[in-house]
Amino acid sequence: MHRYILRPMRVINFSAGPAGLPLPALELAREELLDFGGTGASIMEQSHRDKAYEAVHAEATERLTRLLGVPDSHVVLWLTGGASTHFALVPMNFMPPGASADYVMTGAWSEKQLDEAKLLGTPRVAASTRDAQGRYTRVPTQAELQLDPRARYVHTTSNNTIFGTQFHTLPDTGAVPHVCDMSSDFLWRPTDVSRFAFIYAGAQKNLGPSGVVVAVADKAFLAQGRKDIPKIFRYQTHAENGSLYNTPPTFAIYLARNVLRWVEGEGGLPAMERRNLQKAQALYGALDALSGFYAAPVEKDSRSVMNIVFRTPSEALDAQFVADAKKENMLGLKGHRSTGGVRVSAYNAVSLHDIETLVSFMKHFAQSHG
Ligand SMILES: *Cc1c(COP(=O)(O)O)cnc(C)c1O
Repeated sequence: MHRYILRPMRVINFSAGPAGLPLPALELAREELLDFGGTGASIMEQSHRDKAYEAVHAEATERLTRLLGVPDSHVVLWLTGGASTHFALVPMNFMPPGASADYVMTGAWSEKQLDEAKLLGTPRVAASTRDAQGRYTRVPTQAELQLDPRARYVHTTSNNTIFGTQFHTLPDTGAVPHVCDMSSDFLWRPTDVSRFAFIYAGAQKNLGPSGVVVAVADKAFLAQGRKDIPKIFRYQTHAENGSLYNTPPTFAIYLARNVLRWVEGEGGLPAMERRNLQKAQALYGALDALSGFYAAPVEKDSRSVMNIVFRTPSEALDAQFVADAKKENMLGLKGHRSTGGVRVSAYNAVSLHDIETLVSFMKHFAQSHG
C-alpha cells in the first residue's frame, strides 16, 4: 500500500535551475494530472495532434505572445535539447561556411557558446570581460564592443547565471542581427523582443520545468537560415510547423502554460519587474550593509537581479551558511561548483517575503560569526 506523506510546507527554493515553480502552477498540474479537462487521461498521455493538447500549445503560445508583445514579424518556438543544444544549432543555422559571427564573452555559458561555434566555423570574440583569474565580474560597456559589420549575428548572454552578472541594457548591435541566450532572465521584466533576431531560453530557470526551450525569432532571420543541414535542425522547420513538426515536450509546455497563467494573473511583466527589483534591492542592500562580513564580487553596474553571488570570510563559513540555511528550510544556496561561495537565485517564483526571510538569516549569521 502506498502512503502519501503530506509535508507541512514547501521549502524556500533558491535553486539556480531547475528552479522552484510558482505554487499555483504546480497545484493546477496536480488537480489536472489524472484527468485533463474531462478527457480521462493526463495531458502527457495524449496525442500532440489531438484537440486537448493543441489547446494547451496554443494557449502557451498566445500567453507568451501577449506578455512579451511579440510582433507579427516574430514567431514563438517551443524547442528541445536544453539551451546548450542551441549553442550548436544557432551557428549551424546562421553561420554558414566562410561567414563569421561575433560573440560577447561574459561568462561560462558564453565560453560554451563560442566553443560550439568554433567547431562549425570561425566566430570572433567581440568583447570579453574575463579577468586574470578566469572570472567575469562585470559585463562590457557598449564602447568596449568591437563589432564586425560583416558578422552574420552578434551573440550575447543577457544574464550570467554562474557569475551573477547581467546586462541592464543589452548591447546595440546596429544592423547586425542580435542573438541572445536569455535562459536565466527570460520574462524577468518587459522586453522589446522586436530588437532581437533570435532569443532562446531553457525553461527551467524562469518559465517552467526542464525539457523545453523557448525561442522568439524574427521570421525574416529564420528564412535566411541554412537549408543544407538536416531538416530537424533547421529552425525554419519548427517555425513552419507551429513547433509541432515532431512530438514536442508536451508536459513541459503544459507546465509552462500554467506558469504563464500565473505571471499574467500576477500583473504580467511590469509586476514581475517591480517585484524582482525590490528583491534585488533588499538582498544587495543587506550585502552592502554587511560588507565587513560578506563580499560581493560583482561590480555594481553589472549586478544580476536574478542570481546574487557572495562569499563569507572563509570557505568553511560558506559551507556552514548553506548548511544552516538548509536547517531553516532554505534550499539551493550553494554557489556553482566552478566558483564556490553562495548564490541566491531569485527568479520570478521567489517572493519578496522569501528574500526577506533570507536577509534576516544573513544578518543573524553575520552577527554570530563576524
Ligand atoms: C542554465 C543555462 C544554460 C544551460 O541550459 P541547459 O538547458 O542545461 O542546456 C545556458 N545558458 C544560460 C544562460 C543558463 O543559465
